[in-house]
Amino acid sequence: MFEKILIANRGEIALRVLRACRELGIKTVAVHSEADRDAKYVKLADESVCIGPAPSAQSYLHIPAIIAAAEVTDAEAIHPGYGFLSENADFAERVENSGFVFIGPRPDNIRLMGDKVAAKQAMMDAGVPCVPGSDGALPEDPEEILKAAARIGYPVIIKAAGGGGGRGMRVVHTEAALLNAVSLTRAEAQSAFGNPMVYMEKFLQTPRHIEIQVMADEHGNAVHLGERDCSMQRRHQKILEEAPAPGLDPKLRDKIGERCAKACVKMGYRGAGTFEFLYEGGEFYFIEMNTRVQVEHPVTEMVTGIDIVQTQIRVAAGEELPFKQKDIRLKGHALECRINAEHPYTFLPSPGRLTTYHAPGGPGIRVDSHVYQGYLVPPNYDSMIGKLIAYGDTRAQAIARMKGALMEMVVEGIQTNIPLHQDLMNDPKFVAGGTSIHYLEQKLESLKT
Ligand code: ADP
Repeated sequence: MFEKILIANRGEIALRVLRACRELGIKTVAVHSEADRDAKYVKLADESVCIGPAPSAQSYLHIPAIIAAAEVTDAEAIHPGYGFLSENADFAERVENSGFVFIGPRPDNIRLMGDKVAAKQAMMDAGVPCVPGSDGALPEDPEEILKAAARIGYPVIIKAAGGGGGRGMRVVHTEAALLNAVSLTRAEAQSAFGNPMVYMEKFLQTPRHIEIQVMADEHGNAVHLGERDCSMQRRHQKILEEAPAPGLDPKLRDKIGERCAKACVKMGYRGAGTFEFLYEGGEFYFIEMNTRVQVEHPVTEMVTGIDIVQTQIRVAAGEELPFKQKDIRLKGHALECRINAEHPYTFLPSPGRLTTYHAPGGPGIRVDSHVYQGYLVPPNYDSMIGKLIAYGDTRAQAIARMKGALMEMVVEGIQTNIPLHQDLMNDPKFVAGGTSIHYLEQKLESLKT
């Protein structure tokens, strides 16, 4: 096992990785920007290194500073968390070429999945069902583009091959609007991701977003840890997740999960990964794979009893997965509310100082957060200040516990989306379960009128 790990991230996930290391008896190095100097997890780490000023480009995304920090502290491995450099194949390569272990998949797997066109092709080859769409990237020829859309059938969605974070997507309802939409998405993709390649998919009208968590080691073992339902989204970004997905047939879960695990073995994948699907009419359609730990991993941890971050560290150290597929049992139900520093209905960011902070507790409640009373939420980063997770024997119990926890939680000095989550916990459609990815936006729209 490693003696010392450098955590190349910030906020709640930095603290989450630190806690996993502490349990495994591994020393930690926290790197931080000037804006995060006073963060509690920085003080909790065995060592800390300031890697630059507040803007991420000069700190959390600055590869040479991170490698240098690992060198001066004699860390053996680097955990990238999520976001920032976690899915940057060049970073993973630089880490390994500098003699450190990258806690994540091999760089070529990250690169493959970072190109969504290539990723879809690889999945089709591995027998994983995909959303019907163009054969690879869209060609230049307008006639060919029109033909592809006519074959798929409107509405279609134009997506950037290099896209991520819910950006670089455009829905097209009519042939008249198609060519213009393709050029606009290409231009946006070029400026946002440095890659103008776009592809086309059937735009599904009422799908749910259901994803499969996988874990693999370097010895040819791969398992799936069941699914998460992340359909509650705004602007293609998740705000509330749960496991398992309400009403999903366990046989179907096992079937799709096994395909994902097999695909991992075929690619020589190692570490944690997520296969994201749209689910409609009883069918799964692959949209992309994330090659890192995800924000919503705790709901899977709660229903499987498996520590995903520790398992990532173990397999990165060369160990075999400590469980087989038959050992994985899903028990109970878990929900996660992302607590964001933002206005609950206008979504305007609300950075600032927490004048009062009280975390909820009680049976089945887990709070993954780096904040504390007096903490200053910096304006430079993502607005998420923590995650509130509720576990119950049944979904109804998990909802009841979440309601209580949201009521107990006090965050003053800034605005948060706690009222929106409270609203959702009392929403009859959510309580019934199985809402589509468009539900939240429709609900927000109806609140306006
Ligand atoms: P990103 O990498 O930016 O997160 P994804 O391909 O994972 O992009 O898509 C993000 C979200 O966009 C999905 O969860 C879904 O809400 C929506 N979406 C993507 N593809 C489709 C599609 N073919 N039909 C309907 N919605 C889609």
